[in-house]
Amino acid sequence: MATGYKAVRYRFSRKVAAEIRAFFGLRHAATPTMQILDTFADIRMDDTDQDGWTVRNPVTGHYRCFINLEMPRNRTRWTMAHEIGHILLGHIQDVSLDGVPDDVLNVMEREANVFAEELLMPWEFFEGHALRNLPEWAEHMEVSQEACAWRLLQIPRVYPSSGRQRLGLTDSDFTLLMAQCAAAVIGTKAIV
Ligand SMILES: [Zn+2]
Repeated sequence: MATGYKAVRYRFSRKVAAEIRAFFGLRHAATPTMQILDTFADIRMDDTDQDGWTVRNPVTGHYRCFINLEMPRNRTRWTMAHEIGHILLGHIQDVSLDGVPDDVLNVMEREANVFAEELLMPWEFFEGHALRNLPEWAEHMEVSQEACAWRLLQIPRVYPSSGRQRLGLTDSDFTLLMAQCAAAVIGTKAIV
């Protein structure tokens, strides 16, 4: 099963997330992660120190997700989106991801994060909201400030000439927001 998992399938992971948003009719921020996960898996409370993990019943093909609900709410929302990614991207072929070689697992983890990012923070959720500060954007998306900052920092690359207009900000507010995001991710590891 390792074949096909040598490189991160960015476009595929984003496309599947976009299809799920379309299926659930999601057009506004604050993606209902619990409702979506509940559609695909039996949700249980995790009692370990992990954020979340998923097992698949090899006989029935049903999924069960263990989610640590004691983590901060927005972090739990990311975890649920990430686990939905593992399920819908077909990562769990056996019982769980236990025993998957590290290099393959790294690719899967990145894909699940790309999926989570696209499910929680598609570009259309940012359009025209004109929020000036990172904490406001994070609250709007109901994600952590760190996850939101990593997403916002992609804007100059994704929309080199229209980034600030899409956010509805002036040049100076956009520059300040980018600086705020850069400061927020210093010392943290990129999520996707
Ligand atoms: Zn994972």
